[in-house]
Amino acid sequence: MSFFSDAIGRIQPSPTIAVTAKARELKAAGLDVIGLGAGEPDFDTPDNIKEAAIKAIRDGQTKYTDVDGTRELKEAICAKFERENGLKYTPDQITVNCGGKHTIFNAMMATVNPGDEVIIPAPYWVSYPDIIQLCGGTPVIVEASIATNFKMTAAQLEAAITDRTKWLIFNSPSNPSGAAYTYDEIKALTDVLLRHPHVWMFADDIYEHLVYDDFKFYTPAQVEPALFDRTLTMNGVAKAYAMTGWRIGYGGGPASLIKAIAKMQSQSTSNPSSISQAATVAALNGPQHFIAERNAVFKERRDLVVSMLNQAKGITCPTPEGAFYVYPSCAGMIGKTTPGGLVLNNDADVANYLLESEGVAVVFGAAFGLSPHFRISYATSTEALEEACRRIQRACAALS
Ligand code: PLP
Repeated sequence: MSFFSDAIGRIQPSPTIAVTAKARELKAAGLDVIGLGAGEPDFDTPDNIKEAAIKAIRDGQTKYTDVDGTRELKEAICAKFERENGLKYTPDQITVNCGGKHTIFNAMMATVNPGDEVIIPAPYWVSYPDIIQLCGGTPVIVEASIATNFKMTAAQLEAAITDRTKWLIFNSPSNPSGAAYTYDEIKALTDVLLRHPHVWMFADDIYEHLVYDDFKFYTPAQVEPALFDRTLTMNGVAKAYAMTGWRIGYGGGPASLIKAIAKMQSQSTSNPSSISQAATVAALNGPQHFIAERNAVFKERRDLVVSMLNQAKGITCPTPEGAFYVYPSCAGMIGKTTPGGLVLNNDADVANYLLESEGVAVVFGAAFGLSPHFRISYATSTEALEEACRRIQRACAALS
């Protein structure tokens, strides 16, 4: 009998973290590698947020806080939800956790039983299926292809729902595709859920602020107020405020669910870092102008990458509405032969070829549940992106 649990046997290490680690390793060995795998902004945390953290330390805010967040932070989150999303939560409807990933983990641990199904549109963020599997639940993957701009349709959602469905995990703008749903596209999905009162909505809004070309962001509970009582609206400071290392995520939802999450957290991590919570109050209540300034840079990089990739033979790259990822199809590279004589059979082969021939690290599409694609994170310098795309063009041209 194995010493290790069945639960740990059901999951895989994060493939995105693995690609980043491999790129770092090759770089350390002296190779000229451009890493396009990381899911974090290359910008720094704004100074006013750092100062708030330093002040919190000096003021002695260094003790345990309430398990699922300080009153001050919960009030700042309520104000954020009302100001930016038109959602009226009270502090007892707010949970604060050690990163957005932890909000998802806690919510699923608190609700999913073995045999329960959770609908996940693909391409998906790599952690969703593994978290569901840790809980003993069954991920039900619905492929949202490039033909529908990586968005799940109402008909697909309807067809995926069974008596065992517990949640729909909805992520807009999406990691890895960057696709963001319009008001009408969300409404089509929430209309389906209205017909199935046993299905809850998990809205992962972590990329809310990273949208381009005047795209208007909406969250499901805002589009369909009748779903408010069975929606967990999740968000965090990692992406918009460049605070990935601070580990603060949060959610708004019915008080009964929030209480169950607090119970889970009380027997695992306890409160998120008191200092990070103080910094998050400053992030949410403080100036927001830097978000638009940084988005202008992200948009330029997105346009550069999309245009250069579309000039590469065998690659088709749609223009995503948000996040900092593109998810090109590499269907035109499959079946081709590399100068070294290897046939590219799938997107993992394509990613390996790009890394080994040109030193460009991307994440293969199978990791996100939709092939043949690969993901590029453009949260890196414009010069590095330009050089990486030139190398990808060269690698494509060398195929026969
Ligand atoms: N949701 C999505 C779609 C993400 O891409 C990420 C991070 O990559 C998260 C949630 C979690 O963010 P964090 O745990 O860093 O707050």
